[in-house]
Amino acid sequence: MNKVILVTGASRGIGRAIAKDLALDGNMVIANYNHSKDKAEELQEELKRNNINMDIYQADVSKREEIESMVEYVINKYGRIDVLVNNAGIDLVKLFTDVTDEEWNYVINNNLYSVFCVSQQVVKHMINAKNGVIINISSIFGQIGASCESIYAVSKAGIDGLTKSLAKELSLSNIRVNSIAPGLIDTEMNNDLSEEDIKNVEAEIPLKRIGRTEEIAKTVKMLIECDYITGQVISVNGGWYM
Ligand code: NAP
Repeated sequence: MNKVILVTGASRGIGRAIAKDLALDGNMVIANYNHSKDKAEELQEELKRNNINMDIYQADVSKREEIESMVEYVINKYGRIDVLVNNAGIDLVKLFTDVTDEEWNYVINNNLYSVFCVSQQVVKHMINAKNGVIINISSIFGQIGASCESIYAVSKAGIDGLTKSLAKELSLSNIRVNSIAPGLIDTEMNNDLSEEDIKNVEAEIPLKRIGRTEEIAKTVKMLIECDYITGQVISVNGGWYM
């Protein structure tokens, strides 16, 4: 595809699969990470062994100054950002009545403010280029709600609202904005679930299994390629929610 693509939260899980797949397809991928430098470097090395370049950049995407430095780095080095994948996110499993203000701020800052702030920095350049694609990773829980994950669900519903609004506001600048709402995907985010918990979820899913990170990566590629899709929340959930 030969595009310059920034993927946030690409050291592990879904973001890592997205970054890897897009790099293997011939794009210049800048894989953002926060704490997992070793994992980011490991992916970079793995790709290098196949003669594929992928750049990595440390930044906490809940912090404006770090986001500004990251976007400046990419623009100075590569001259443009064709595609932004806002993937970085964290979970909080807690009774609603026990959630503190600090936890509310932590989840909203990491999951929703990050999408607002990274997009705001990147969109300036996309508007000048009159070209761009933004893909936000939200969640099935933003669509249907989640008991004991209410703040997480709020953050993901907010992403879908922002997605639709930006799709309208940025369409005249030839910028498309979509969300992908995964169901349960096999990553470390779900390490706290027991085998029995997973089996119970699988029983509720029409396709009878949880999802794979590669399946989200494939959907990202589809959204980059298909020029006539904007403002959509694409569910990748095995039919768990229709
Ligand atoms: P994961 O395995 O826990 O990985 C999370 C990734 O996000 C890591 O690479 C982490 O980087 C990065 N990250 C978190 N906070 C960050 C920050 N402030 N700045 C930069 N990077 C940050 O999670 P995952 O399952 O792949 O989830 C990825 C996205 O998919 C999230 O937005 C999540 O909400 C969404 N999602 C996941 C599922 C699921 O079932 N797994 C379902 C629906 C939606 P470091 O390790 O380097 O800090």
